[in-house]
Amino acid sequence: MPAVVTDECDKCAVCVDECPMGAIEFDEKVFVDEEICTECGTCIDVCPKDAIVME
Ligand code: SF4
Ligand code: SF4
Repeated sequence: MPAVVTDECDKCAVCVDECPMGAIEFDEKVFVDEEICTECGTCIDVCPKDAIVME
């Protein structure tokens, strides 16, 4: 299952920069493109708000 950004996200954009696949998009919301995500877990490790979960 791909990573999912929850409502805890404060749009700091750290994960957007750190995702090695460029799978995280930052628009009005931050969200993961599940077609691209490889489930590496990097975004979960770097998120200061613990706002990303692997569903
Ligand atoms: S799990 Fe890895 S590939 Fe998927 S969105 Fe997070 S950093 Fe990117
Ligand atoms: S690192 Fe966490 S709080 Fe920051 S934009 Fe990503 S999901 Fe949101």
